[in-house]
Amino acid sequence: MTATLEPGTTAITSARPAWVTDAKLASWNRWVSAPVTGGEEPLTATAPYDAQPTAPVPSCSADDVAATVVRARAAQASWGGLTVAARAEVLLRFHDLLLERQDEVIDLVQWEMGKARYHAWMEILQVANLTRHYARRAAAYLADRPVRGAMPLLTKVREVRVPRGVVGIVSPWNYPLYLGVGDAVPALLAGCSVVSKADPQTPLTMLWTRALMGEAGLPAHVWDVVTGPGAEVGTALVGSADYVCFTGSTATGRVVSEAAARRLVGASLELGGKNPLLVRADADLDKAAAGTVDAVFTNTGQMCIHIERVIVHESVYAAFRDKLVAATRALAVGQSFDFSIQVGSLASAAQLAKVTAHVEDAVAKGATVLCGGRARPDLGPYVYEPTVLEGVTGDMDLCLGETFGPVVALHRVSSDDEAVALANQGDYGLSASIFSRDTRTAQTLARRIRAGSVNINDGAALAAGSVEAGMGGMGDSGLGRRHGAQGIQRFTETQTIALSRMGPVGPPPGMALEKFVRLGNAQLKVLRRLGSR
Ligand code: NAD
Repeated sequence: MTATLEPGTTAITSARPAWVTDAKLASWNRWVSAPVTGGEEPLTATAPYDAQPTAPVPSCSADDVAATVVRARAAQASWGGLTVAARAEVLLRFHDLLLERQDEVIDLVQWEMGKARYHAWMEILQVANLTRHYARRAAAYLADRPVRGAMPLLTKVREVRVPRGVVGIVSPWNYPLYLGVGDAVPALLAGCSVVSKADPQTPLTMLWTRALMGEAGLPAHVWDVVTGPGAEVGTALVGSADYVCFTGSTATGRVVSEAAARRLVGASLELGGKNPLLVRADADLDKAAAGTVDAVFTNTGQMCIHIERVIVHESVYAAFRDKLVAATRALAVGQSFDFSIQVGSLASAAQLAKVTAHVEDAVAKGATVLCGGRARPDLGPYVYEPTVLEGVTGDMDLCLGETFGPVVALHRVSSDDEAVALANQGDYGLSASIFSRDTRTAQTLARRIRAGSVNINDGAALAAGSVEAGMGGMGDSGLGRRHGAQGIQRFTETQTIALSRMGPVGPPPGMALEKFVRLGNAQLKVLRRLGSR
């Protein structure tokens, strides 16, 4: 059965925000790190709302990227020499400017990427929270750590944190503001300089943000932006940065990880997912259905942590399914620069093709469409109806492969053990959710699910929004964590500084080695008796 959705709005004929003048575009383009070689064709994306070109940005060559990293490395020396408090002042000014000027960047995010306005605003919320958190906590996260030395009292030893140098950030189009700047903020506070490769679909959002950081007082070349085709520019950045921070697909993540490993530079990788949500027999079904709708359709399903599999206990399956389908059908779908829409457009023709192919493959192999299941060109070129399926089996592409669209499959189970086994199927391990009134059992179950985050009685966003806690994936969903202590400490290396108060450690002049060994053994026994270490 295919649902008939109430259209949220009519198609947009021109998506370019009226305030985006040619002069403004030219001023943002000046933030692209100045081309050294030039001569490459400018790059122009297609706006999802009207399928028209957005605005051209320069295309950097591999040499441009290498030169940009050299400039950033030079700029890092003085930036890294500032106190954390001085760096935090710049970031807090950025926070305030972002809140003041949010309507501009929300327009740009919508123009370039097509999401609903509310979901674009959530990027503001996340970046503001992250920036404030790190500006206030960076000094503690980066503080020296005194440790016990080799010889009690006679030595003083501490671990200190040293910025890695130039962090190369490669981020995707689905959260151009949050993922574009969310890792740059802790990297800058850690004393690194940053070179960001903007995604070819969403470079204007990145350039606007860089311009705003300039207004906040960030010195030149401490954060530079390179633009151009993903593979060329991304490869060049991974080939020259001192640390790589990558967010994107698992396939590209493997390529990036291999390239970083060959150069013996560190990398954190935030990759794909096929996230499960468990509805236990005792769940509040109204809350579970509302949470599921939010977790599946936020950002039109183009969110790494969004839910693509819902695993429901058989005793509540029919009741939950009916509530979920009703809530899905009630969503306002379409495209609009106001807050009237709940599910926006997909970002590109490629996304529409992938989502369509996944659903068609599932239906051809026997899955049932409970609602949605088709494109809505009457609402926008890349709009796809929020879709709920059941009867999905292992031979279907969308069963364990990431769809990255507004599509979810329902699965029926008869026990917690079966639910956990199904949740752990596949190679991904990014995020999971559990709805249950028994929160103690839910927390025990959470530890059995292989996922970097588990939300209990929330659809998807609670863990990611708790910016003091690490966020990242297990298995094929990545390496390393963003947010919290790990999210900033990864941009530093520890250095151990050991001081001797008695001169070089070893036998004093004139003492026989044998006597020194006897004294050493006696000292070890005393320390053992004292319970030292
Ligand atoms: P993608 O891997 O195709 O591209 C990601 C970025 O890498 C883009 O900017 C692209 O231009 C660049 N790139 C492409 N080839 C490259 C190369 N050889 N070297 C370096 N960079 C290269 O991913 P996508 O399809 O654009 O983004 C969607 C994917 O990102 C989904 O799988 C989604 O789950 C994942 N994602 C993960 C997280 C997370 O935090 N775990 C967050 C958002 C998105």
